[in-house]
Amino acid sequence: MPAELESQLPANAVAPPRAGSLARSLVLATLAFCLLFTLATVGVRTWFAWNSNLSNMNAELSLIDQVFQGTLSKAVWEMDNEDLQTQLDSVALAPPVGRVEVRVLRPGRPPEVLERHHAGHDGSSFTPTLRRQLTVSPYPGATEVVGELSIEGDARLLWQRLWKEVAIIMLTQIIQSLALAGLIMSMFNRSVTLHVRRIAQHLEQLTPQNLKHHLMLERGGTASDELDLLEAGVNDLQDKLADHIERQTHDELALATSRDQLAELVEQRTAQLKAANIRLEALSRFDPLTGLANRRHFDELKELEFNRSLRHDQPFSVLMCDIDFFKLYNDTYGHATGDQCLRDVALTMSALFSRSGELVARLGGEEFAVLLAGQNRQQALSLAERLQALLAEQKLPHKGSSVSPYVTLSIGVAELDPANMECFDQLLQSADRALYRAKSQGRNRCEI
Ligand code: GH3
Ligand code: MG
Ligand code: MG
Repeated sequence: MPAELESQLPANAVAPPRAGSLARSLVLATLAFCLLFTLATVGVRTWFAWNSNLSNMNAELSLIDQVFQGTLSKAVWEMDNEDLQTQLDSVALAPPVGRVEVRVLRPGRPPEVLERHHAGHDGSSFTPTLRRQLTVSPYPGATEVVGELSIEGDARLLWQRLWKEVAIIMLTQIIQSLALAGLIMSMFNRSVTLHVRRIAQHLEQLTPQNLKHHLMLERGGTASDELDLLEAGVNDLQDKLADHIERQTHDELALATSRDQLAELVEQRTAQLKAANIRLEALSRFDPLTGLANRRHFDELKELEFNRSLRHDQPFSVLMCDIDFFKLYNDTYGHATGDQCLRDVALTMSALFSRSGELVARLGGEEFAVLLAGQNRQQALSLAERLQALLAEQKLPHKGSSVSPYVTLSIGVAELDPANMECFDQLLQSADRALYRAKSQGRNRCEI
């Protein structure tokens, strides 16, 4: 990978596997093919060269024959042995000649053989051999055979020439193959490898942010080819990927917004639920008609105050209050006015008993209880009487009452007796008994 390309890679990017070269593989394949082709070509061309050399050598031997036949025939005819030897030496010296033999034929005598050959000539069977009869014309119209001439080609020269040609053939073939491989490599490199590397570099640098940057191969020409298809394919894929990522981002944003809205809604609902719970809690502790503490709340606090008073050795009193002849009140004025009467009495009571340690509760119907922490029976009795007085001041008409023209209360008062009481209910029962006495003694009164 080029250094400049490496420097552009992000630090944490995984280095791609080292790529081989397509051009190199192509060149190796081309060279291998060229080698085989060269071998075949060299074989064919060598065979042609061999045949051509043979026919050339044949022609040369014929020429030598033409040159020397006359003089050799003459030397044999004239039995000029010296000249014959000289002629033979001359023929043997000619380059294409490997061996020369003259068979001298004389009537009544066995043939005499004269021979010359190059050192190392072994008389190969494939070298061309030329055989001629040596004839003379002693007088016009007559021909006489005086001997036989046999010229064998020089095998070494034949091989020498052949090797020379084979060397040239091989050299040209190798040069041709190398040039072809070089041309293919250069063309492939320029028209394919370069662009493939450019595509690989482009793909390597792609991130979701730069998907819109299209691949641009810098190529000349207008004809469209496979690389153009690849370029278009890569760009199309990038566009689709970019669209997909955009849609995904949009969906994720929408999802996040919905999630936030949902969280907000849940928060709102939780707050509403909390408020409702608080209201419910309040409702569960307070009497809806009068707003006073209800029986439940009263039960929660009574033991608390009772025990606290015991612990601190402080007085603790309870008032049990009951509206007199309230059934008759309802009967006289109706239930709704009865409710309003209950609210008026409650208001009077809560106005009077508003200090800390004092609690007014509606125990049910027209019965009320008052916890008076820190008050002894006398103080409690005074407060009960004060309550009656305040109610009397209200002058709530009650035509059905036989004790007063106005609404009145009977009140039972009881104080905690630590020596004899173990729980609050004993104190409440004591107050209840006092209330009963108040009722039985004529109503609109306080009893201890
Ligand atoms: P006493 O003087 O002995 O207490 O007689 P009373 O009539 O007040 O007592 P009683 O227990 O006979 O009657 C209580 C009545 O209180 C009966 C019922 O109709 C009435 N009452 C109870 N709760 C409510 C209420 O919430 N609203 C109204 N308007 N009346 C109620
Ligand atoms: Mg009652
Ligand atoms: Mg009553």
